[in-house]
Amino acid sequence: MKVKDHIANAIKTKKTEFSFEILPPLKGQNIETIFSHIDPLMEFNPPFIDVTYHREEYIYKERPDGLLEKKIVRKRPGTVGICTAIQNKYQVDAVPHVLCGGFTKEDTENFLIDMDFLGIENVMALRGDAVKSETYFKPNKDGNAYAQDLVEQIMDLNQGKYLDEDLLNSAKTSFCVGVAGYPEKHLEAPSIESDLHFLKKKLDAGAEYVVTQMFFDNQKYFDFVARCRKAGITKPIIPGLKPLATKKQLNLIPQRFSVDMPDTLVKEVIKCKTTEAIRQVGIEWSIAQSKELIKAGVPVLHYYSMGKSDNIKKIAATVF
Ligand code: FAD
Repeated sequence: MKVKDHIANAIKTKKTEFSFEILPPLKGQNIETIFSHIDPLMEFNPPFIDVTYHREEYIYKERPDGLLEKKIVRKRPGTVGICTAIQNKYQVDAVPHVLCGGFTKEDTENFLIDMDFLGIENVMALRGDAVKSETYFKPNKDGNAYAQDLVEQIMDLNQGKYLDEDLLNSAKTSFCVGVAGYPEKHLEAPSIESDLHFLKKKLDAGAEYVVTQMFFDNQKYFDFVARCRKAGITKPIIPGLKPLATKKQLNLIPQRFSVDMPDTLVKEVIKCKTTEAIRQVGIEWSIAQSKELIKAGVPVLHYYSMGKSDNIKKIAATVF
């Protein structure tokens, strides 16, 4: 089933659904690692589960002669395999994330064909970030530069339009596409208005729904939704929540995602003597956020699990 239909059902029944995002495990681990994160969350009946995509990284290895050798590695492969495993084992729709970064348009097309053949009907279309060792995002020479271009390519395939224009009577895919939105503005966007302008373009290109970047102050989400509606964005906007789990994240999250931490949360975390106490503060904060968002009638709450399910389980057990 398509995510847009799951959302429509939730709106119709006025019942907020629970969903979450997982990361593929580091290379070398097996699929059981993933199942052990998903199993405890299945009692909350997620209608769909997102699986992130991790592009290549450059690492430098010292050779015996002392020179450094540049190597290209993918530390967390397996997105499509995990999605198929999820659909087979749990009969739940899996949403693979697909990036512009690191892909030529040909790679993208082939990736989409694989997913279509595997019975995956949903994708989250993202630009991706710069390679870790680079300052700016650089698209592949023959790749998509922005998520909007990727959405357009997926929509072309949904119309049976492949890159090779000589293909005749080609099969149409029918992907439902989600895109990312930033309540506190994407870190590279020169202004809120410009970010909103390009978000609308992704939706006008055919994306069906938005999942937001994490936020810790619900007012940022409410204001964002109001701005989107004023700008003519009518599609559902699913809030993304991440429970804070370590003291380091107080600085890491604002730096990496350009997201503010409310002062009350910062003070609560600073008071904590142990990581366990911080995790508890994160859980309680996320529960309060969730309850307010449910009261506001959001169709789905989407949790960033970052590969750990214990805190998400505690939140879901209280909220759903
Ligand atoms: P875009 O929508 O392309 O926007 C990127 C920037 O360019 C924005 O500042 C935007 O305002 C601007 N812009 C957009 N279109 C244009 C245009 N035509 N001309 C000029 N400027 C433009 N990253 C991963 O690597 N893997 C994942 O699995 C992953 N999952 C994510 C899931 C969610 C819900 C979110 C919120 C983010 C995720 N990310 C993931 C991170 C994401 O890849 C980064 O935030 C990335 O920097 C931007 O991606 P985007 O799709 O929002 O880009």
